[in-house]
Amino acid sequence: MSTPLMRQYRKIKAQYPDAIVLFRMGDFYETFEEDAKITAKVLGIALTRRANGAAADVPLAGFPHHALETYLPKLVKAGYKVAICEQLEDPKFAKGIVKRDVIEIVTPGVVISDKLLDNRVNNFVCALFFKSDKVGVAFADVSTGEFYATEVKIDDLPNLLDTITPSEILYSKSLKNVVEQVLEKTQIKPFLTKLEDWVFKYDYAFEILTNHFQTQSLKGFGIDEFELGIISAGAILHYLQETQRAKLSHIRKISRYDTGDYMTLDPATKRNLEITVSYSGETAYGTLFSVIDKTQTPMGARLLKKWVLRPLRKLEPIQKRLEAVKELYENQELRKELYKILGEIGDLERLISRIAIRAHLPGTTGRANPRDMINLKESLKKIPKIKSLLANSKSDTLQKISKFLNPLTDVISLIELAIVDDPPATVADGGVIKDGYNAELDELRYITKSSKEFIANLQQKERERTGIPSLKIDYNSVFGYYIEVTKTHLDKVPPDYIRKQTLVNAERFITPELKEYEEKIFTAEEKISALEAELFNQVREKISEHTEAIQKNAQLIAMLDCFVSLAEVAVENNYTCPIVDDGDVIEIKDGRHPVVEKILPPGEKFVPNSVYLDNSENQILIITGPNMSGKSVFLRQVGLIVLLAQIGSFVPASYARVGIVDRIFTRVGASDNIAGGESTFLVEMHEMANILNNATPKSLILLDEVGRGTSTFDGISIAWAITEYIHENPKLRAKTIFATHYHELNELAELYPRIKNFKADVREVGDKVIFLHKIVPGYADHSYGIEVAKMAGLPKEVTERAKEILANLEQKELTPQGKVKKKISKEVLMQKFQISLFELNDDRLRQEILNLDIDNMTPLQALLKLQELRGRI
Ligand code: ADP
Repeated sequence: MSTPLMRQYRKIKAQYPDAIVLFRMGDFYETFEEDAKITAKVLGIALTRRANGAAADVPLAGFPHHALETYLPKLVKAGYKVAICEQLEDPKFAKGIVKRDVIEIVTPGVVISDKLLDNRVNNFVCALFFKSDKVGVAFADVSTGEFYATEVKIDDLPNLLDTITPSEILYSKSLKNVVEQVLEKTQIKPFLTKLEDWVFKYDYAFEILTNHFQTQSLKGFGIDEFELGIISAGAILHYLQETQRAKLSHIRKISRYDTGDYMTLDPATKRNLEITVSYSGETAYGTLFSVIDKTQTPMGARLLKKWVLRPLRKLEPIQKRLEAVKELYENQELRKELYKILGEIGDLERLISRIAIRAHLPGTTGRANPRDMINLKESLKKIPKIKSLLANSKSDTLQKISKFLNPLTDVISLIELAIVDDPPATVADGGVIKDGYNAELDELRYITKSSKEFIANLQQKERERTGIPSLKIDYNSVFGYYIEVTKTHLDKVPPDYIRKQTLVNAERFITPELKEYEEKIFTAEEKISALEAELFNQVREKISEHTEAIQKNAQLIAMLDCFVSLAEVAVENNYTCPIVDDGDVIEIKDGRHPVVEKILPPGEKFVPNSVYLDNSENQILIITGPNMSGKSVFLRQVGLIVLLAQIGSFVPASYARVGIVDRIFTRVGASDNIAGGESTFLVEMHEMANILNNATPKSLILLDEVGRGTSTFDGISIAWAITEYIHENPKLRAKTIFATHYHELNELAELYPRIKNFKADVREVGDKVIFLHKIVPGYADHSYGIEVAKMAGLPKEVTERAKEILANLEQKELTPQGKVKKKISKEVLMQKFQISLFELNDDRLRQEILNLDIDNMTPLQALLKLQELRGRI
């Protein structure tokens, strides 16, 4: 049993079984049955019941149509796919049940509305197709029109996915397991959508792509060698067409995504250097990106994020970027002016996407709203000024931006002529098209506007004709226009008045003339709204013809925005222009950590540090020093300075020379790493294996406390062997900084020519240690663990006893401090080292004391621990 309406609903729902169908009914979007239960729960709205004819009630949840912008994001963010089903005709004119169909499907990866998007980040949907050890990867942002394809080895996929950070992944039904395995190795949690296997076929992909781009082949896009990449790209286009149900004319090209041009940053490195996400999961604070992002436009912010996640590897493009930043750095007036103008430019990329998307279904106007047009116009108006400001630049790149920016005066004047300056939010609200743009519209508007005057005239005429001075003409929604005559004057009512209603004191009448007029006004209003929609659509179509030019402008402005941002940051934070070359040296004078220097507590000053690394004498630097002495900060700042230089940014140092590196590897010790789950030591060794297998002499390796996840002896042995391997293996020989509190590793410098010792300097004042945060040549002779423990408030009994134990241990130690200055043969040292590993049984005890989490111990726990430790001596 069901009503025709429910039958219509079920038919539509059957086509979108995996989506929540928002079913438009008059002024409401309704959901039914299971969808209603989910919707009510996610949105916190009432679940009601609809009497469904004679049959059982149907669960129902709905909200007013104007609340779509509030509720849709909630559903999508909760991980649901939503199909928006609209009424395709005006219910007033519908014969039988109103025609309805789905006009758009919104999924986490396919979103157009700016209400649903963070305008400073891309929103990519990605498709994967696996074949033997390779995978075709394609990704697109439907809100900006970007579309890329590539092909990589499966092993490299997790890293690539972490760089793209897609919100949604499409895959072929039968490959679910493979996808799940890959995702386990990434940081992302995308929405997963499986498609039928037939979508992932080369012939289908080739056809859908060449059809869309209107080309014979894919050669022009440089992707024709990526068979698997093309298959994935075809799947994306297929999915976009399905979900958007519109012509995606703003997707104008597909680009080859080349992994070779960029420095690879593996997930561990991105995490450890806190490039775009901090350890605590923050993005807006405590990350490199948050410090260097002063972009003014959304497309600029999106591009800068791409830059930091993909530093360059080739000298020429790095130098070109640096030249542009340098000119803006030096020319304050130019920079300030550009900064201000950029702040007045909207999201050109997303504006044109919405404008260019043309809905297939009748009665819908695509995705653009009238305010998008005004925003586009105001943004484009800024272009001539930018062109002229940059016209005489010294930098090639700035010159080119000036030259290629397109003022698009036709688009500006079209919008200027057609759309009112302060339009309502939607075309349906009316009053969008300017007076004077279209003669027919003007005339219709005149009819409706003059209605007041007409009625006033008619009222006067009727009063005179009938001699009833109190006669009035009024309007209500039941009868439309009517003439009201009070009871006292009823005898004067002329015969052509038709009685409609009797009130206590008066009667209401209509006349044929009045009704005729009423009809004219009503049809005029209807015609106006249809005509406005049509004219708006025409304007939209005309602007869409310039999609490519507008996208190009958006890219140029994004680039300029990044340069201005980097220059502004360089001035504000006192950075210098690095010398970047193809050489082997990394030399930094007075380097600073770009993030830490900004977040030190008030009163504390950042202590700059220098470093010199090369492939001949200073390949590996071993940095020893107690906890909290500044080792990790130093290590990371070297990585960040190299990274900044290779995105074309100035760097926090007084001088920097950076021989381009191909990869930055980082490995941070277990206790510093908050990643849980898998044994931290195993994670550490996985990451270490990745480094040793992939680093080259052009790489930079940053190791922080490697080996801490296991016992001291194991740890020292592994750290020792790793360092040797990096030094000795000619395929590796990467520049390396190794921070450790195993001062035993200092012996390595005696044995290997390219290893040098440094320490984080501390000053002992009485019983206390003061961290100077200065990295100086030499080595720390002990760990100061007990001093640090004392400063942290460990009971005196514990620290005193610990000192005794330590003294005991040190007597047995292999190398009494200060005695290793003279060079000893490798064999002898290794022999001694081996022995020490077995002799120092009590070292475990010592390590346990050093590892005590004093901050989180109560005095009682501390005493009990002390007792336990004593019991084991
Ligand atoms: P370690 O790795 O030696 O345990 P960190 O590098 O984590 O120590 O540094 C500990 C703290 O010392 C940092 O959080 C920071 O507040 C401060 N610090 C580190 N380096 C500097 C520096 N160069 N100048 C000022 N403060 C610093």
